[in-house]
Amino acid sequence: MRPHPELRQAATEGTETAGADMNPGDQAPPGSPQTGENVCRDCLGKGIRADGSRCETCGGTGKVIELVGDA
Ligand SMILES: [Zn+2]
Repeated sequence: MRPHPELRQAATEGTETAGADMNPGDQAPPGSPQTGENVCRDCLGKGIRADGSRCETCGGTGKVIELVGDA
């Protein structure tokens, strides 16, 4: 019952691509310091674009993570 070396390698790979939790509209991973949720500008917080398709900027959540510089 030894830990598999391959599993550990897969875990470290995620840090390089900044994680799968991020959406294209996010400026930082959720939970990062000096960031906050903001309404997605592409779908105005609906998660659905004007043509009825899912908003890819926010991943359909209607929210994006943005950097807040004034903290
Ligand atoms: Zn959106």
